[in-house]
Amino acid sequence: MTEPDLFEVVNPATEEVITTVELAGLAETDAAVARARAAFDTWRRVAPADRARLLRAFAAAVDADREHLAALEVANAGHTIGNARWEAGNARDVIDYYAAAPERLFGRQIPVAGGVDITFQEPIGVVGVIVPWNFPMPIAAWALAPALAAGNTVIVKPAELTPLTALRLGELALSAGIPEGVLQILPGRGPVVGQSFVTHPDVRKVVFTGSTRVGKEIMAGCAAQVKPVTLELGGKSANIVFADADLAKAAATAPYAVFDNAGQDCCARSRILVEASVFEDFLALLEPAVRGVRVGDPADEKTEMGPLISAAHRARVASYVPDGAAVAFRGAAPEGPGFWYPPTVLAPVRHDDRAFTEEIFGPVVAVVPFRDEQDALRIANATEYGLSGSVWTRDVGRALRVARGVEAGNLSVNSHSSVRYTTPFGGFKQSGLGRELGPDALDAFTQTKNVFISTEE
Ligand code: NAP
Ligand code: MG
Repeated sequence: MTEPDLFEVVNPATEEVITTVELAGLAETDAAVARARAAFDTWRRVAPADRARLLRAFAAAVDADREHLAALEVANAGHTIGNARWEAGNARDVIDYYAAAPERLFGRQIPVAGGVDITFQEPIGVVGVIVPWNFPMPIAAWALAPALAAGNTVIVKPAELTPLTALRLGELALSAGIPEGVLQILPGRGPVVGQSFVTHPDVRKVVFTGSTRVGKEIMAGCAAQVKPVTLELGGKSANIVFADADLAKAAATAPYAVFDNAGQDCCARSRILVEASVFEDFLALLEPAVRGVRVGDPADEKTEMGPLISAAHRARVASYVPDGAAVAFRGAAPEGPGFWYPPTVLAPVRHDDRAFTEEIFGPVVAVVPFRDEQDALRIANATEYGLSGSVWTRDVGRALRVARGVEAGNLSVNSHSSVRYTTPFGGFKQSGLGRELGPDALDAFTQTKNVFISTEE
């Protein structure tokens, strides 16, 4: 017997150890894959209405446990209690939404000569889901719900830093009657458990959310077995503000579009592009909004921003704001224990500054001016990323032209919302591959089988 690999789970707001979680090794991963493979043979044959009923029961169990799940996320990830409640509710809604899918997994009947041709949407098999630490509940739910609905079995590897809500979701699934082996939560290290999903021949699909660097490795690894992948990677999204916009509203909302979840959001609008004629006016409106962001104890209902996830991550974020950096203004952050970093606004910033080109994943935003619509699009698109973005203007035609012109998967006009479980979500360029959520998410967890039946005598 080898010693168990124990991981201390830390509260990022206090730096206290909350609990210890045992990390799976290769043998445990192989055993989990074998259980998932065995469970697949029965789960895929559960009658559609019964699979739907089990998923609705799972959603109801999540609903009943929402306050507990939210409290776990406040403690484990430092999310504000308001955000954590939304995240638990989102997990419930996503499971509920895809509970309708088993009974609507339609194929087609295609006209052919000499018989009948029909298609089936077949499940793929064991799905391995690799989850990052920034939104542990929603990101797990977005993959596991449609995957289970389509008849696959699922193993979730949470991020080492944030396993607690995923483990709880696994317990809730079992309590709701989802059979053993259908949904397993396997805490472990990325290069061990995550990598096994890529190399194990019985894992037939990988869903990865995280850094673009690791995402590329996953995609390359999956090529060896022609294993389909869904990738949700980084972003460096633009918030484009035109002179004719409701400037007060654009400035009041801009901080929340980048500092929410302490900026640890792949959709963060971390570059603000402002039409030159209103650049100074916008900054004057932005300053009080940024100073007004309430940073502190995430369990306090009034708090709007909590700590970063870890000391190492804070050091990485801070590296983008070296001594002498052009900090236009910044908000406050608590002193003492906790991985705090204040909301920070950089201006002026050169377009080749790494703070303007790289994903910081923290509460740092750069503001730059643009001349006109073409210039705004040129700056917005001068990035390898393409996840989200916002356009602020009262001109409807321009709103649509610019929204269509930005090379990104999720745009919002006069708002900053990217995520609804009923609408598709995913990235252009190096922000990702495939789409999650919305009416078509089942496509990523099924494969089409065509069957021809001869009617000839
Ligand atoms: P990461 O290294 O890409 O980790 C994401 C997930 O992948 C974690 O579960 C991680 O496990 C796992 N993983 C790591 N290496 C792996 C490998 N070789 N094979 C399979 N799985 C592997 O991201 P991170 O270190 O948490 O964050 C680094 C940066 O990535 C952030 O600063 C941010 O820029 C970006 N990021 C983006 C998103 C997003 O939503 N798009 C989310 C998180 C991070 P471990 O927990 O064991 O490392
Ligand atoms: Mg990592």
